[in-house]
This record gives sequence, C-alpha cells and structure tokens, in this order.
Amino acid sequence: GTRAGAARLTDAADRHYDAIVVGAGFAGLYALHRLRADGLRVRVLEAADSVGGTWLFNRYPGARCDIESIEYSYSFSPELQQEWNWSEVLPGQPEIEAYLNFVADRLDLRRDIQFDTRVVEMSFDEADSTWTVRTEAGESFTAPFVVAATGILSAPLDPGIPGLDTFGGTVLFSSQYPREGFDLAGRRVAVIGTGSTGVQIIPVVAEQAEHLYVLQRSAAYTLPSPARPYEPGELDELKANYDDIRAAQLVAHVGAARTSAFSVFMNMGGFPPLKTATREEQLRAIEENGVRGALYWSDVLSDPEAGELATALYGEAVALIVRDPRTAAGLTPTYPFGCKRPIIDVGYYETFNRDNVTLVDLRQGAIEEITPTGIRTGQGHHEVDVILFATGFDALTGALTRIDVRGRGGVVLGDVWRDEGPVAYLGLGVAGFPNLFLIQGPGSPSAASNYLATMEYQIRWIADCVAHLRGGGHQTIETLPEAQSEWIDGVQALVAGSVLLHPKCDSWYNGANVPGKKRMYTTYVAGVPEFHKQCDQVVAAGYSGFKIS
Ligand code: FAD
Repeated sequence: GTRAGAARLTDAADRHYDAIVVGAGFAGLYALHRLRADGLRVRVLEAADSVGGTWLFNRYPGARCDIESIEYSYSFSPELQQEWNWSEVLPGQPEIEAYLNFVADRLDLRRDIQFDTRVVEMSFDEADSTWTVRTEAGESFTAPFVVAATGILSAPLDPGIPGLDTFGGTVLFSSQYPREGFDLAGRRVAVIGTGSTGVQIIPVVAEQAEHLYVLQRSAAYTLPSPARPYEPGELDELKANYDDIRAAQLVAHVGAARTSAFSVFMNMGGFPPLKTATREEQLRAIEENGVRGALYWSDVLSDPEAGELATALYGEAVALIVRDPRTAAGLTPTYPFGCKRPIIDVGYYETFNRDNVTLVDLRQGAIEEITPTGIRTGQGHHEVDVILFATGFDALTGALTRIDVRGRGGVVLGDVWRDEGPVAYLGLGVAGFPNLFLIQGPGSPSAASNYLATMEYQIRWIADCVAHLRGGGHQTIETLPEAQSEWIDGVQALVAGSVLLHPKCDSWYNGANVPGKKRMYTTYVAGVPEFHKQCDQVVAAGYSGFKIS
C-alpha cells in the first residue's frame, strides 16, 4: 500500500546512495523531494514508523501550532498549496500530521523512506569522502552527502527525578503521547512543566481529570490565542492570494507576516511607551486588553526599567483573571518578557479558577522525589494516578549529539559542541564535518522565525550546493573554522545587551534547561530576509567560508 515505507535492503551493494537524509519531518520530506527531483538516489532513515516528526510525536491534548496554517506549510509547490484545505487559522496537531501524510502520498515519498530505523552512528571516511551511516539494527548505508533533518526540538529531556521508577501509576510524556490517547477521567493528574507544551495541555487536562496538579518551576508569559476555524470562503480567498502571502512572509522581519504570536510581538513599536504612561492608562490597558495590555508598549523590550514595570503590570493583569491571590502571584513570571518566544494559549489563566486545579509553585519548594503514590515536593506530598511530563527538549543539538557523529580525524560532533558550545556556519555546516548539512542548526533563525521559511530556504541552498559540487566534479564542501567563529560571533553580537541574555532568562534557547550544557545563545535574530541574503552572498562569492575540493 502507499502508506508503507521502503523495504529493508539485504544486499550491501544496494546501500550506497547519492545522499542520505536522516529524519522524515517537514525538513526530511522536502529534502527527499528536492534532491530526488535533482536526480539523486536518496534514502531517508527515520526512527519512527511514520512521517511527521514533531507533529507525529507531540500528540498531546491541546497540541497546536502558533503560526497560521497557510504559512506553516510548504511553499514550494502551488499544487500542494491549492489542494490541501486547512480548517483552522492555527492548526492543531492532528491536522498538521494529516497534512504531512497527504504530502508524503501526493509526492510519492514513502518509497524512499525506511521507517523504524534509528541512526546511531555516522562517520566520515577521508580516503573516499564518504559517510557511513549505521543504524540501531546494525545496518549500514553509505553516501557522499548526509542531510541531518533530525529536528531542533526532537530529543526529549529525561526529567531526572529520583524515584520515577518506583511510581505505581501511569507515566506519560507529552512528546511521546500514546497514539490511542489516554483516558484521564476520574484520575488525579500531575502535569510537570509550564513551557509552550504545558500551557497548551493544562486547560484540556483540567476538563478531563478529577484533579489536576500543575507543577511549575518558572511561570510563563502567555497570550490568548487567536485560534479559530476559518470562516466559509475565507480560505478560498487566501488561496487566491497565496503568492502575495508567501512574498510577504519573506520580507517580514521574522518571517511570520500574518497571525502569530511572534508577528504581534515584533510590532510593538507601534504602541506608546509604558514608562511615561499614567497609572490610569496602565490600568485601562489591562482592563481592556488583559495580559496583552501589560506587554504591548513600545519600550518593554528595549528598556529594562519598562520591562520590570511590564512584569509587575502583567502580574496585576493575571490577578484580574485568577481569583486566588496566592495562585495569581505564583503565575506571575520573574524573568523579563521577550527573552523567550511568547506562548499562546486557550483559557490558561481561567483554568486556575477551577475547583479541581491546584498550582504547585516549585519556587516555594522544589520536587524532591517521586514516590509509589505521587510526588513529594518541599511543600508536601501530592497523591496522583498519572504523571504527565512536559519537560522539554535538549534543543538544537540534542538529536545530533545522541548520534555518534565522527568527522575528519574521528572528531566527535558532540565533543565539539560540549567544548565550544553549539557552533555552526550559517546554521548549515560544522568545521571538521565535510558534506554534512544541518537544517536550522546553531546560528540559524530557527525559533526566532516561522521555522518552515528558513527550512525550505536551507534545503534549496543545500540541493543547489550539491548540484554545484557534482557538476564541477568536486568531492567535498567543508566549513572553514574562521568562518564558523566569525558567524557565531556575529550571531551573538546581534543579541548583546538585549533581554535575550538576561541572567534570569533560563531557556532552551541558551542551553540553560539542560544540566551541564554550555550556556550560549545561538539563534539568529536579524530576521529571515537578512539570513537569506547572507547565505545568498556566500554562494555568490563562490561559497565563501567553505573549502571546496
Ligand atoms: P522534526 O519534526 O523534529 O523531525 C525530525 C525527525 O528526525 C523525527 O521524525 C525524528 O524521529 C527523526 N530523527 C531524529 N533523530 C534520529 C535518528 N538518530 N535516527 C533516525 N531518525 C531520527 N515551530 C513553529 O514554527 N511553530 C510552532 O508552532 C511550533 N510548535 C511546536 C510545538 C512542539 C510541541 C514542538 C516540539 C515543536 C514545535 N515547533 C514549532 C518547532 C518544530 O519542531 C518545527 O517547526 C518543525 O516541525 C521541525 O521539523 P523538522 O523536520 O526539522 O524536525
């Protein structure tokens, strides 16, 4: 049938390809399509049993995209754009998963994807400029080029809480949520984590569970979601203007021109300053606009004093919604707004007015252990039947450091990133690892953009580069160490002195969520258009910063 992937191969001679792609999410699927269209023999190796990546694994209740569907979708094919019908402005996980299955079928991708195949080792042979890719099952594949489409948020963090194995109830992970769902009715549930995922899960779980304990290490800024179904005829009109919408996407500063938390966030310059607003004006803003009223001022991101005022006002706005003053205080963030991508939610704060919901603010006493019947914190023991972890990812680098990637001289990628921090050139290549292409690697716009805009651009860049090498009879392309340092220094200079480096801002953007990870901010914040320009210039200058041989 069409849903089956490629059969396993038995003959080693058949395992040589022109390119190997690791991962079959948004990026891997497009990489396969594009490289195949260029005439390459491509094999995709995917650990899961289906396509979708992020949108296959994160099937937790409430999972939803924060970018408008017509933009959080492939732009490379007018046919795909016209044939697929989105039902909602901000699509939920099931709809995005269905879309990616549609794309895989429509472009006949599955025949070149080998599912249930986890890559555990990749090593570069300098003698013949070939990568050997080994799988968990002991198969090996060779190819001159490897595209690591392994995802930026695909390596779940082990919560590392003592006693977890003694727990007698059910343990769930948001990023490996059971495909058949899980009936929470009549159960006492603890959700651990209040990042983007936790904030989406909590209102939905609260409606199902007998009691919900929300274990929160740090409070989030979260804005009411503009999620809604498309009106009749609305999508048709958008589709008729698709070219304009895509064009606008690429000139918008962050690559998300229309409905998204991010586009609003970047347009705050249009509001008056908070510091000179009267107390009456401030109060009116939160009475009329809720938590947004606390944040949408022109100086909140640029002036630390205004930022502090905004945080306090945000707390007042939360207290207008959440009736219990102690809970409201617990839900007020203690780090500055803007140092992470804002979260958008559906009824998050209102959920804490329910009788069956308890906030456990871990700043008042941390988790000590998990017991056979619940969770012990510094504030007491909570008896629960289900623990649902929404504890995040080893972001940007985790998927690749979990593979034993060996470049020139047997150097291990994980060691490089441990010692130097997450470094790469243009978010694409790492010095010492020829012919290995990353997607949205360190130093690319990733989370500071509509992920897909830069992902598609990078895949085109890679495919053109591979065609250039093959056409010119070259064997390798390799990042020069000086170009890599210069690029990463530049990426860091862009955020110097900004709220993004605030010492209280612990996040996956800077590695602070992973014990022992080097703290370093490597997201490119100058915007998608500028990023594309820089990468275009590198090509125009004959792949400056790379060595081709
Ligand atoms: P992924 O979708 O992560 O796919 C990577 C694939 O590689 C996976 O299928 C994985 O199994 C496979 N893989 C990894 N390692 C191996 C290995 N060793 N061997 C074999 N296969 C391997 N971005 C936005 O722009 N807007 C959003 O609203 C948004 N919401 C998100 C919500 C959640 C819960 C998460 C986790 C991420 C979200 N993102 C969002 C970011 C999202 O990850 C990207 O937008 C995009 O889906 C990534 O696509 P990808 O193909 O690069 O990686």
